[in-house]
Amino acid sequence: MYLKALEIQGFKSFPEKTVLTFGESITAIVGPNGSGKSNIADAICWVMGEQSTRALRGGKMEDVIFGGTQKRSQVGFAEVSLIIDNTEEILPAEGSEVMVTRRYYRSGESEYYINRRSVRLKDINELFMDTGLGREGYSIIGQGRIDEILSVKSEERREVFEEAAGISRFRHKKEEAERK
Ligand code: ATP
Ligand code: MG
Repeated sequence: MYLKALEIQGFKSFPEKTVLTFGESITAIVGPNGSGKSNIADAICWVMGEQSTRALRGGKMEDVIFGGTQKRSQVGFAEVSLIIDNTEEILPAEGSEVMVTRRYYRSGESEYYINRRSVRLKDINELFMDTGLGREGYSIIGQGRIDEILSVKSEERREVFEEAAGISRFRHKKEEAERK
């Protein structure tokens, strides 16, 4: 499983549709300060369901939408698609390639898609659960995250290990059943 491509449109500093293809060999993104490197990481977290505006380095969710510059006016929505190689069938989805899309309008309306089929945020979370990807995953470690993991309560730290061990799915299902 690896990241094949990322399509960004109207997200942060990417007003026009931008397609980044990664392949298996990309190990780093380099560029001058302010050129959008962190915005690319933000786009990946966001499309995988990140809800924390703080984690996305903004004040409100609308801040992910391209807000305009002196030369270019703002846009009405942000859309990011992530294309993941799934030939090893690690993600519980159909096809050797899985496309996950998130769209957000200034009106506050959100849309999520898996392989272009409209889904709920819950489906996105479940797709990535126990894979190490996703909001609870450890494949993206932001600045300060290591300190955060070390300083949290032991029960919260346990969740990181549960995700790594691939058993979050079961705890999640159990909690869901208990709520019913
Ligand atoms: P550094 O090397 O300093 O970490 P970076 O390449 O990671 O830089 P980013 O933080 O990804 O840079 O990009 C910052 C730029 O993105 C800033 O110029 C900022 O104005 C722009 N930006 C962020 N959000 C938006 C938005 N909603 N609309 C337009 N531009 C935005
Ligand atoms: Mg940066």
